[in-house]
Amino acid sequence: MAKEDYYKLLGVSQNASDSEIKKSYRRMAMKYHPDRNKDNPDAEEKFKSVKEAYEVLSDGQKRAAYDQFGHAGVDPSMGGGHGAGGFGGGESFSDIFGDIFGGGGGGGRQRSAVQRGDDLQYNLDLTLEEAVAGTEVKIKVPVMVGCDTCDGTGSKKGSTPVTCSTCHGQGQVRMQQGFFSVQQTCPTCRGRGQLIKNPCSKCHGRGRKEENKTLSVKIPAGVDTGDRIRLAGEGEAGERGGPSGDLYVQVRVKEHAIFVRDGANLYCEVPISFSIATLGGEMEVPTLDGKVNLKIPGETQTGKLFRMRGKGVKPVRGGPKGDLLCKVQIETPVRLTREQKDLLKKFDESLKEGSHRHSPKSHTWFGGVKDFFDKMI
Ligand SMILES: [Zn+2]
Ligand SMILES: [Zn+2]
Repeated sequence: MAKEDYYKLLGVSQNASDSEIKKSYRRMAMKYHPDRNKDNPDAEEKFKSVKEAYEVLSDGQKRAAYDQFGHAGVDPSMGGGHGAGGFGGGESFSDIFGDIFGGGGGGGRQRSAVQRGDDLQYNLDLTLEEAVAGTEVKIKVPVMVGCDTCDGTGSKKGSTPVTCSTCHGQGQVRMQQGFFSVQQTCPTCRGRGQLIKNPCSKCHGRGRKEENKTLSVKIPAGVDTGDRIRLAGEGEAGERGGPSGDLYVQVRVKEHAIFVRDGANLYCEVPISFSIATLGGEMEVPTLDGKVNLKIPGETQTGKLFRMRGKGVKPVRGGPKGDLLCKVQIETPVRLTREQKDLLKKFDESLKEGSHRHSPKSHTWFGGVKDFFDKMI
């Protein structure tokens, strides 16, 4: 999907200030607003794109993610913690103008009586295996849903809301203060312009009620801590028949007993015996797809990293599968019998002859330490 660059869309440079972005956005939004472009069917698309761009660039965190990862960093449906909110299908244009232009004050325009429901967040803990392979989970979320008794209107059956007599449906009233007349939100209807005379007995006029809903969520393979999955329209129901908010499922991957994940790669530590490290051999190591054999060459030192290509994680945003990196850790034998200790002593004695050959690292290290002290005297 070739999306236009957000900066280009808003006609600003990459290092534009917040106020420049805001100014440009206002200009573009005015220009392409569908109400002003009734004969231009492309204007609405343009308006949506401009709004999307502004949503990202006006938010410091999202802007940083966008600068770093481009559109992938802020994809509304699969954002790495930076879901851009998107353009809700049921969102009315008056609402959009409401949040940017600071309320529906000017010109006494009537405020829309409906309100979009809140977005919800659900924290989902996954095992590493589930996150890597993908899974489907059932989650229970408490949500405010539209009241079915009054169909979300808040009014008793057979009755309809009446126009507020204080503001005559404007939602705003003018108050005289000395020479000035000041516009304020109507105190009677709190800006809704309408009053519910006979509230629904079930929701007491709110038009919504709380309910638990069970959702089945498909978790794509490769997600990681911080990823969010957006379920459009699964958030809280809007008030009085307004559109629902979105539900964000925030992924958190639990610690694993063996593997540590870093992006597409997995890391693990493999304890090997002193003799295998010395003589070489084969070790069975775990991967997320089962056990595999790892060939340990002779004379392997502790801390050596072995890379097993393609045994890591396939990233959720695409790209090649990562690797599994096994770090070998030589395990010092414990609880030895007297006999075993004697054998080891004998073995150690045998090494003393020509230690520079058997332990080149210690040899040079001790040499360096000796030089260091010699120079001090
Ligand atoms: Zn009701
Ligand atoms: Zn009123």
